Order: sequence, then structure tokens, then C-alpha cells
Amino acid sequence: MQVINGVSTRTQHLLELEDKYGAHNYHPLPVVLSKGRGVYVWDVEDKRYYDFLSGYSAINQGHCHPRIIEVFLEQAQRLTLTSRAFHNDVLGEFAEYITRFFGYDKVLPMNTGVEAVETGLKLARRWGYEVKGVPAGKAKVICCADNFHGRTINVISFSTDTDSRRDFGPFTPGYEIIPYNDIDALKLALQDPNVVGFLVEPIQGEAGVVVPHDGYLAAAAALCKEANVLLIADEIQTGLSRTGKMLACDHENVRPDIVLLGKALSGGTMPVSAVLADDEIMMTIKPGEHGSTYGGNPLACRVAMAALQVLVDEDMAANSAMQGARLRAGLLDLQHPNIAVVRGKGLFNAIVIDHPNKDAAWEICMEMKENGLLAKPTHGDRIRFAPPLLINSAQIDECIGIIKKSMERL
Ligand code: PLP
Repeated sequence: MQVINGVSTRTQHLLELEDKYGAHNYHPLPVVLSKGRGVYVWDVEDKRYYDFLSGYSAINQGHCHPRIIEVFLEQAQRLTLTSRAFHNDVLGEFAEYITRFFGYDKVLPMNTGVEAVETGLKLARRWGYEVKGVPAGKAKVICCADNFHGRTINVISFSTDTDSRRDFGPFTPGYEIIPYNDIDALKLALQDPNVVGFLVEPIQGEAGVVVPHDGYLAAAAALCKEANVLLIADEIQTGLSRTGKMLACDHENVRPDIVLLGKALSGGTMPVSAVLADDEIMMTIKPGEHGSTYGGNPLACRVAMAALQVLVDEDMAANSAMQGARLRAGLLDLQHPNIAVVRGKGLFNAIVIDHPNKDAAWEICMEMKENGLLAKPTHGDRIRFAPPLLINSAQIDECIGIIKKSMERL
């Protein structure tokens, strides 16, 4: 194997292929992965790393979880897609399973996270017109500054991130943006009788794991109820045991009117998302009014049931709570002058780097890569630490050591 500037010719070749023929809509770390198992991934040179991103929390159950893969392979050899023009023999079973699991009347299955968001917004508008009685064309949804809910034109219409929006307009009307974690702002916005929904991330992930004050979600839920407005919880990144509870809303015993799930709903094997709501909301959408070719396909349904069952059987929420606390304590113990903030819940964490070099977070991630841990900066100065939820104490301690060693290079 030939190595030039610390990169093998094979790695260099694969990086160049992507660069030449792929769109430049991401800025990945220069590592080319070819294998994953549990908390680890391996690059094409067989170097092993801890995965501290977990596919933006799609791999909560760990890479290639054997039970999920077994179910995947078995179903893939039997029936993968029927479309919803016909019934398949797994969708009904999945619908019963997931609605009982989370305690809702109905599920609407989709594929990607942003499709779940779009579905939740459509449901809120439809419910607003048909049940709440909002005048035609006037429905409004309240969203939060610094949100991240996906990349469609409608969803970036209420983004406050200029990179996400530049030259993609015109945008969709019908949204009001208020500051996150600000109950007074919500109270004020809810005075408009045409508000049909409040879309919120229980913890803002892409913004850098911004955890609201204790009681924020519970207070928001109470205000929404009082104003006859649907609380739409985007649990696509925070859900499925990531924060130490099955849903992040569970920390405050909040039951949202609409729950959006994605990512780890398939344990990282394929895009599977779902929207949960009760009949009063879900039954406002009639045949032919919404859907997706792949939504509810038998492969996705089978895999999703396995992915949820693994979370329960291996008690991943409890492990997330315990190891998350250990990780934060270890990071705080470093008392590193350039770590301005350590925050998070369960294994959903971030540090904020305080350093005159604006590329410091990127450089730390490069150094951590050298030392065997993969993480990615967000918004310049924040680094998310979100390993698979089956990580153990010895591994957490080793990772704290890697982070410490990597920070020393600053
Ligand atoms: N909502 C949240 C909170 C997310 O974190 C993401 C993705 O990171 C999405 C929605 C969009 O999901 P997807 O990329 O699968 O469309």
C-alpha cells in the first residue's frame, strides 16, 4: 500500500472519485469507511474508529446489529415492496406494533425524516381547517429559530440558517418563527387563532445539541392544549432512546399530539420514518390525498419492528442515560480551557470550543480521527458526541482519553 501525505493511494482514489462525480453538497472528514460493527467502523485500510456521530443518530442500535440484519435479510428474500396499491402482510402488523409501542391510534409510514416532517405539517393544516375551523388558506405553524427539520423547500422556508436557504426561494408562507426555549414568545404567538401547530425539537440537534430549560416542553404542551394547537414533536434525532428515554418528550411526561420519527427506526439500514397521531388528526387525510411509493413497504415495516424491539430488549435508553452522564462528567473533569461548554442528555452531547482559531473544532476532529474517534463539527465551533447506545463504560473512558489527547494538540 502506497502512502502519500498520510493518505493511502486507495483512499485518495476514492476521495477523488467522489469529488469528481458527486455533487459537493457535503464537507466530510477525509476518511473512507467500509465496515461497521457495534460502536466501531473501519476504513478501507482497516483502521478502526469509534463512531461518535452514529449516522446523525440513525445507528442508535450500533452498526449492523445482528438481529436487525437477520430480519432484514430474511424479509429481503421474501417481499420488499408492493406499493400501497395493494396490501402487504407486514404493514398491518407493524401498524399495530408501533401504535401500541408509543400509545397512539394510528401511524402514517414514510421514508426519510423530512417526509415525516412534511406529513406532520400537512396533518396539522388539515386538522386546523377541518376540526379547529381555521378559515381557508390561513393556517399558521409556529417554529423555532435555529431549528433543523430537513431540506425540502417547504421545510427550509422556516429555517433560520442562511446556508440552507441561499438562492432557494421563493419560500412557502404560513410559518412564524419564535426563539427556542422561550415560553413567553410561544404564549404571544399562540394568541393568533389561526395557529394550528407548534413544531419543535425537544433538543435542537443540528444547532449543536441545545437543551432547553427543564419544564420547557411541559409548559409548551400545556400552552398548546389551552390554545387548541397541536404540539408536533420532531423526535427524528432525539427519539428512540438517544437521550436516555424512548422519546425525549418522556423526560417531561409530555405526550405530543403528533410524533415524528425517522433515522434509528431502521437501525441505520434504510430510510424509514413514521408519523404517529390519534384518529381526530390522522383520519382527516383520505385515500389519495398523501402518500409515498416506498412508505409502509414490508421490508421497512419488518426492520422497524426489529429496530424498536432491540432498543427495548437491550435496555438502550438506560445505558444511554448512564453512559451519557459518564461521558459528560469525564469531559468536565478535563477542565480544558478551550472547552467552553459541555452539554447534552443521555448519549446526545456536544462541546463548544472556545479558541481564536475559527477552524479549531475541525482540527480537533481531524486529530481525533488520527487517534481513532470520528466526530463532526457543526456550526463551526461545536462538536457533537453521540456514539451508538450500546457503548460500555470502558469504551467511554477510552474515548475520553482520545478526546483529551486530541485536544492537547490545539
Ligand atoms: N428532523 C430532525 C430533527 C433531524 O435531525 C433531521 C436530520 O438530521 C431531519 C428532521 C431530516 O431527516 P432526513 O435527513 O432523514 O430527511
